[in-house]
Amino acid sequence: MHFKPLLPLSDALEQLLENAAPRVGVSDVPLGESLGRILAADQYALIDVPPADNSAMDGYALRSADAGRSLPISERVAAGDSAPSLGPDSIARIFTGGEIPVGADAVVMQEDVSKKGNLIELPQCIDADQHIRVRGQDCRAGDLLLSRGRGIRPQDMGLLASQGIAQIPVLNKLKVALLSTGNELREPGSGPLPPGAIYNSNRPMLLGLLTALGCDVVDLGIVRDTAEATRDALSRASTSADLILSSGGVSVGEADHVRDSVSALGEIALWRIAIKPGKPFAYGRVGSTPFIGVPGNPSSAFVTFVMLARPYIRSLQGRNDIAPKLMPARADFTVSNAGSRQEFLRVTTYLKAGEIWARPYANQSSGVLSSVSASDALAVVPLGELIESGQVIQLMPLDSLLY
Ligand code: AMP
Ligand code: MG
Repeated sequence: MHFKPLLPLSDALEQLLENAAPRVGVSDVPLGESLGRILAADQYALIDVPPADNSAMDGYALRSADAGRSLPISERVAAGDSAPSLGPDSIARIFTGGEIPVGADAVVMQEDVSKKGNLIELPQCIDADQHIRVRGQDCRAGDLLLSRGRGIRPQDMGLLASQGIAQIPVLNKLKVALLSTGNELREPGSGPLPPGAIYNSNRPMLLGLLTALGCDVVDLGIVRDTAEATRDALSRASTSADLILSSGGVSVGEADHVRDSVSALGEIALWRIAIKPGKPFAYGRVGSTPFIGVPGNPSSAFVTFVMLARPYIRSLQGRNDIAPKLMPARADFTVSNAGSRQEFLRVTTYLKAGEIWARPYANQSSGVLSSVSASDALAVVPLGELIESGQVIQLMPLDSLLY
């Protein structure tokens, strides 16, 4: 059989993203339920935060010009009190978060004064504005806080709450139909394996990857390797989801029915991608529902998912940041990538003399899922490159690829 040259990963990604407009509508959700959801509209500050100048310390609010004097306390302000006016020739006792009294322009820490009877002896040198958290120093009304397409993190929820925002518009969850193809597959819990069978690893792994990305999964289970079963499952998937994701059956063997079935119901591009582990990767549509097929080998399924399906899904979800994060580290290995594919080694990182190093898992075979489970990053080995021990390489931390 004659094959076209392998498609570079960057070309495959570009083609995928060309056709990846958001496929979901918009709803309002209460702020407390917004974790991991994707913002549907830019969020602007409504008020200044903090809304008034207040104290960063427990101590005394005073006029900085009174440095070196001994003065009595005329006021007391704690967090939650409204700001009083500071009387003449006096200072105010103040606690963290208390609003600065009108007339005061500095705060002195309680550790920096001494008491003499009713009088507080002030230090010789007091800077105007010291220990004051100025109104609007966090956000000013009108500031852009968070952009549309941003996945909401816990700290973002806190920031929006500081503005009094109780509800936000988010993009609806992308619904993904998940299929695992293969006559050999059995579900964990179905009893001991009969001859020829293996347990289905990809189903829970892909379910986890999709869930971590914030998708709703319609799990259609195992699909037998026949044209009829594959077509039936794909048809059902296309009417119940925004995207279909299958594993296995995208090679060119006689038991691989995904390509012909997707072609019959829509259209398919079957790509042989210059990626290791990986290679066969299918993309197309069933009716009008987009379709992605990752290879059956679990490590290949994982790596092609995070490198290709993930950015595509993030685009369909309406996210604005889709490129994976890279982190430099030193190689604790020597490899020469003389092959035809960009390699993603599964590595463990560790710290040595203040630097991050990456050690590869011993068995990098595409069927060895332990390599992914034992690792915390993928190390990029570009095509045709020799990487020597100690050289700086680029890593993709696995945690950063999981959301
Ligand atoms: P395929 O892509 O269907 O040709 O499968 C390639 C290899 O991956 C074969 O050894 C399959 O048995 C294995 N495989 C396919 N699907 C799964 C799965 N869901 N879980 C574990 N291994 C699988
Ligand atoms: Mg198969």
